This record gives sequence, C-alpha cells and structure tokens, in this order.
Amino acid sequence: MPEIMIITGGSRGIGAATARLAAQRGYAVAVSYVRDEDAAGRVVGEIRARGGAAIAVAADVSQEDDVVRMFQAVDGALGPVTALVNNAGVVDRQMRLEDMTAARVQRILATNVLGSFLCAREAVRRMSTLRGGRGGAIVNVSSRAAQLGSPGEYIDYAASKAAVDTLTLGLAREVAAEGIRVNAVRPGIIDTDIHAAGGDPGRAERVGPSLPLRRAGSPEEVARAILWLASSEASYCTGSVLDVAGGR
Ligand code: NAP
Repeated sequence: MPEIMIITGGSRGIGAATARLAAQRGYAVAVSYVRDEDAAGRVVGEIRARGGAAIAVAADVSQEDDVVRMFQAVDGALGPVTALVNNAGVVDRQMRLEDMTAARVQRILATNVLGSFLCAREAVRRMSTLRGGRGGAIVNVSSRAAQLGSPGEYIDYAASKAAVDTLTLGLAREVAAEGIRVNAVRPGIIDTDIHAAGGDPGRAERVGPSLPLRRAGSPEEVARAILWLASSEASYCTGSVLDVAGGR
C-alpha cells in the first residue's frame, strides 16, 4: 500500500523541502497552497519529473470548507492520507502588543491553530483504526518561538505555536491506541521567505552568526526531522516535540 503524505503550505520553504524529500522516500505527495500557484506547480513538476506522484491543491487551512475539500481531493487522486504535515503558518509585521489589531491576531490564530486542528481532524477521521483506517502519522510544525515568546516581534505567533505544542501532546494521547502517532518539530531560525513577511527579510543572515551553531538552518534540515518523525524509524515517539534550532 502506498504511503500518502499531505503537506500544508507545501509550495515554498520548509513545506516544499518536505514535499521533495517525502517523494524521494517514496510517498505520494499532496501539497497545499493559498496564493503561489506557480511555486506549488514547480514542486509538483519536479517530483513528477523524477517519477514520483504529486498533486497541488489550493486550500486555505483556516477555512473549514477548503480543508474538507482538500482531503476529499486527495482521497480521489491519491487515496486516503497516511501522513499529515501541518506546516502552513504565518507571521505578521514585527510589533508590540499595544499596536496589534484584533484582525491580525485572529488571522495568525486562524491559520496556525485552527488550521492545524481542522487538518488533524480530517486526518484522524481517515487514519483511526476505530474508523476502519490503517493508522498514520501527524507531524505539526511548531516553532522555538513557542518557548521564547518573541517579545517585541510577534507574541501572537509565539502563542499560536504554544497551542500547536499542546495540540500535539493532547491529540497524541487521544489517538495513540488507534494507530496514529502525533509529533512536532520546533524549528529555530530557518532561511525561508517567512522573515520577509515579518518585515525583516535579512533576519536569517543577520541573526545566524549569533546562534550556538553559528548559522541559520536550511529548510532541508527541518524536512529531514519531519520525515524521521513521520517514518516507522520513530515508531515509539508520540507526543514528542523535537527542537531543530541549532542550539537556540
Ligand atoms: P514560508 O516560506 O513563508 O511558506 C509558507 C507556506 O505556507 C507557503 O507554502 C504558503 O502558501 C503557505 N500558507 C500560508 N498561509 C496559508 C494558509 N492559510 N493555508 C494554506 N497554506 C498557507 O514559511 P516557512 O518558513 O517555510 O514556514 C513553514 C512553517 O514553519 C510555518 O508553520 C512556520 O511558522 C514554521 N517555522 C518557520 C521558521 C523559520 O524560521 N522559517 C521557524 C520556526 C517555525 P503560498 O505559497 O500560497 O503563500
């Protein structure tokens, strides 16, 4: 039976690196995106050119209808999901709490928290052995910000990632006896476009040398940790949160 992995936000950054590596390891891959259709198409094209199976699905993880439709599309095109990577996530401009609008905080929580809950729900409905599924693995992409708090930058984002850590722990225990393992990675500063969205495009280059490992991480280094947690190599890990942060 083929392994089928959904990677939310698989068009760019950590998600795209995870999609490429998953395909190399033999997964059929579905990547979701919201805006950058060309980037999603490039990831899928690369995987197919190497003989892998991949599809791209436009779906905003904060919208319940989009999430339901995405899982149905994957059911039809590839089969029921066996691995979910809850990777889609957003930050907003760096600022202090006093300046944050309700709309901003709601957008961060809707994407990073509600989106992870909705995708995990659809995955559990398909994976749970209680529902006739064959089990599976969920890997949530949290952040070191969950423990550092990101003061003066984006405490809304940090708090959303703390919620992802607790989702990981609670859901792991809730579905452990149903063949589903739930784990998370907590990346540190990784060289992707996300820093530009925070208004600090040079962040990885600037902060990298001050980190214990003296550099920012690459998306591929996070992808390898995600693939390990999703694989049977991590068969006794559930509810685990793995820092991939260069010692930060
Ligand atoms: P990125 O380069 O900005 O890519 C974000 C991805 O998420 C894109 O594929 C984007 O799709 C997608 N996305 C955004 N909003 C979405 C939504 N509402 N629904 C579905 N997809 C959505 O980000 P990244 O740095 O790779 O980050 C990936 C994950 O790692 C995030 O959860 C982030 O919080 C976490 N993380 C990153 C770092 C870091 O330093 N980079 C550190 C810690 C944690 P489009 O292409 O369509 O916009």
